[in-house]
Amino acid sequence: MRHLVCVTVLLCGVAFGQQAPVIAVKTGRLLDPVAQKVRTGAVVVVQDGRIKSVGDAVPPGAQVVDASGLTVSPGFIDTHTHVMLQGDPTDVEYDEQILKESLPYRALRASRAMRIALEHGFTTLRDIGNEGAGFADVDMKKAVAAGIIVGPRLFVATKALAPTGAYGLGGTSYSWQLDMPKGVEMCDGPDACRRAVRDQIAHGADWIKVYADRGYYRRPDGQIRSLPNFTQEELNAIVDQAHRTNRRVAAHSITPTGHAIALAAGVDSIEHGQVIDDATAKQMAQKKVFLSPTLTVIGYVDAPRSKTNPIWNAIAKASEESFRRALAAGVQIALGTDAGGFPWDQINQAKEFKIYVDRGMTPWQAIRSGTVVAASLLGKESELGTLAPGAYADLVGMKDDPLKDITATERVSFVMKEGVVVIPSGR
Ligand SMILES: [Zn+2]
Repeated sequence: MRHLVCVTVLLCGVAFGQQAPVIAVKTGRLLDPVAQKVRTGAVVVVQDGRIKSVGDAVPPGAQVVDASGLTVSPGFIDTHTHVMLQGDPTDVEYDEQILKESLPYRALRASRAMRIALEHGFTTLRDIGNEGAGFADVDMKKAVAAGIIVGPRLFVATKALAPTGAYGLGGTSYSWQLDMPKGVEMCDGPDACRRAVRDQIAHGADWIKVYADRGYYRRPDGQIRSLPNFTQEELNAIVDQAHRTNRRVAAHSITPTGHAIALAAGVDSIEHGQVIDDATAKQMAQKKVFLSPTLTVIGYVDAPRSKTNPIWNAIAKASEESFRRALAAGVQIALGTDAGGFPWDQINQAKEFKIYVDRGMTPWQAIRSGTVVAASLLGKESELGTLAPGAYADLVGMKDDPLKDITATERVSFVMKEGVVVIPSGR
């Protein structure tokens, strides 16, 4: 019955020519990050939320959106965020949020965070672990898709995985009598870890996130290393199970200790990677494993965390050379900030673009990192980060030219997501 109604509506629509309106976005300079070319005076033709074509003229009858005074790029993509978090420079702020804020309150704050991200030009986020919020990230994704809230489209990882005792809350900070809530799903042993992967996917995970290492320290030779969280067998089981179900795996991994087990298991992205040696960089490039560097958050947590543990200063310092090493080795670097690790309303996550340029990327490389390369990490090259026909009509406009001054990405003055204007040009 329901099927019949749909067919009737569809036929009626065609019979009366009720097609979605055509929108023509006039641009001043249009950046094509796939071809690394700039077009002057191009018109992006949009219908049904998707790009129909890019040409030089406004099609007859089209609604015009005038961004002709701006440099326009495909919408930005951040591959490492936590919408359910609002800044945790230290454990104190983290524990406050997990212990004192109800899930509805955290969801309301997430909704605001997502609106801010979208207004900053980020039309897509890979939200990589919801930090003790159950499966609320799936609800946030659903709410955006249904038009209940306005925000970036989300790819979600639900609960990140770590073995017992390897992630907050708990440990020795609280009485052992208390059964503390956890920021992750704990799993031990290959079978239990396979089950944990299945559980995340059953609840709507697009990605699987694992914590590959923790406990960062300096070896006597000065090198920074860490404690591996999982056995190789556990990590192998997690990646195998995820890949069998067509999900990719992101590994939090700061030092070569974590990188070694994560890469051997076959993960798809290394998160943070602040300490990368030559062998790791070479292996990542060969295996086409993405790096999501999250340099904005490192700049934010470095000072407060170093007060109690100076290793964070050393990690921040190592991150400069590691980034250059990965870039030189040809590792695919997808823009990732760890927004949520820093407060959404205090730091614009687009700051990450400038840090990449400061550390050796060309402006084009930085823009590609937050569009084409990030889309490739998501396996969505034909729909995101591109101006190709059929891609989502996600566009951002800037008054200044980011190819001349990359900080232009921090001053977005026009945002369109799926053909809907979020911020009108001229703001
Ligand atoms: Zn993170």
